[in-house]
Amino acid sequence: MKVLVLVKRVPAPGAKINITADEQAVDTKNLGFAMSPHEECGIELAVQLVEAHGGTSTVMTLGAQESEEQLRYAVSLGVDHAILVPTDVDDWDPMATASALASAIAEAEAGEPFDLIIFGNESADSGGYQVGIRAAHALDRPIVSGIKSIDIDGETVKARRQTVAGLEEYRLTMPAIVAVKEGITLPRYPTMKGRLNARKAEVVASPQPHTPGGQKRVRLIPAPEQVSNTVVLGEGPEAAGKIVDLLVELGVLS
Ligand SMILES: Cc1cc2nc3c(=O)[nH]c(=O)nc-3n(C[C@H](O)[C@H](O)[C@H](O)COP(=O)(O)OP(=O)(O)OC[C@H]3O[C@@H](n4cnc5c(N)ncnc54)[C@H](O)[C@@H]3O)c2cc1C
Repeated sequence: MKVLVLVKRVPAPGAKINITADEQAVDTKNLGFAMSPHEECGIELAVQLVEAHGGTSTVMTLGAQESEEQLRYAVSLGVDHAILVPTDVDDWDPMATASALASAIAEAEAGEPFDLIIFGNESADSGGYQVGIRAAHALDRPIVSGIKSIDIDGETVKARRQTVAGLEEYRLTMPAIVAVKEGITLPRYPTMKGRLNARKAEVVASPQPHTPGGQKRVRLIPAPEQVSNTVVLGEGPEAAGKIVDLLVELGVLS
């Protein structure tokens, strides 16, 4: 089967994010970059599907030239082909992104559709939750989001989503699209051979005309820092009373 995974270069989750003085961009001076955790699981899913069913896997991103780093990382994990949709225009609009990705996908397919296209459920930085759905609409393919497990059964993808009411199962006829959540697979680490392959891999560029999106950034606001305090209640048996008081205060004991 032919599988495509879409990834986005984002500041490494967990890093402290600073905003530039003009409040228009993330200050990337001291930041490492990664792909979103959902997408890492999507990469692992693609590699496992090709291991199980044969075929090829491809990874694609839209972003600046530096995004090659994330494409090569995907190759080091076992993905076969990498496509960069390069842009040096600063535009963060999900509608424009989905439209550019949909036409890059159509171009890469050249009339032979990917059986399964895997998006992350949402990106780790802007978290718009919409690129996969908009791209599926543009490509006229079925999509389900929030997916935590899948099986391939002939031409059908059985995709499952966890809800408070239980497990929902959707059956999509391929070619189809899923937006997956972290936990669908356990991502592997790259091997030495994988890293060497990634260095040599060809990254195909898919040129795209820039269609400006409808959203305009006004300014970025750093998220409030979550401060946590540690209070030492005491040591040894004399701390027991204070612990009981605290458990009562928290409602754990009455
Ligand atoms: C002209 C133009 C220039 C851009 N320049 C840059 C840039 O320099 N650097 C940059 O990082 N982004 C760039 N983008 C992309 C844009 O910043 C966001 O990726 C986009 O708005 C997605 O929003 P989101 O993260 O909220 O999406 P969500 O809807 O939360 O993303 C859901 C899923 O969609 C997929 N996805 C999202 N964005 C991308 C992407 N860019 N490439 C591949 N898959 C993706 C991922 O699988 C992700 O998990 C540009 C977009 C345009 C149109």
